[in-house]
Amino acid sequence: MKAIGKFILLSPEEFDSWLKMQKTPARDIRLVQLHHTYIPAYRHFNGDNHFALCEAMERAHLERGFAEIAQNFSTFPDGRIMVCRSMNKIPAGIKGANVNGICIENVGNFDKGKDQMTAAHRAVILSVTRALLSHFKLIPTDQSVVYHHWYDLNIGKRIKVEGTGLTKSCPGTNFFGGNTVADFNKNLLPLLK
Ligand SMILES: [Zn+2]
Repeated sequence: MKAIGKFILLSPEEFDSWLKMQKTPARDIRLVQLHHTYIPAYRHFNGDNHFALCEAMERAHLERGFAEIAQNFSTFPDGRIMVCRSMNKIPAGIKGANVNGICIENVGNFDKGKDQMTAAHRAVILSVTRALLSHFKLIPTDQSVVYHHWYDLNIGKRIKVEGTGLTKSCPGTNFFGGNTVADFNKNLLPLLK
């Protein structure tokens, strides 16, 4: 564990202990959002710049008018996780899914043909998502774990049919085999149970 200011860098095991020590947030948590950062991508990670990357993301988010870094947590290619924004605070992750959400940003670009997710990264995304679901007593479904891609950016609601609405590819067209609800249910959901 290493902390600089509010940022706390943890291994997956340390994250589980950290989470157990947290008081239940006053707000009602009902879902976990999964994102990719796009930039920074894997080429920006040098194995030792977790804090610099989070500080840079925070600067970019401040410039966009956010109060602080948007996400509650960030995960890295080496399998570590950074606590970024208090869980007590509503994240700025998905228009329409923030009030009851926890936002995880996975550092990388997981669109097809871009970053190849490392085994350590894959493992931490699964372990952190599982730990949060368990902590907040949520059953893993496509309602309790959501991808940014499933929401229309303009209206801030879930799209009803894949391929409609104005959406981002986030968390990536190759994220655990694809970014659609069907991909999630086929590929990621079984790994969360
Ligand atoms: Zn996103």
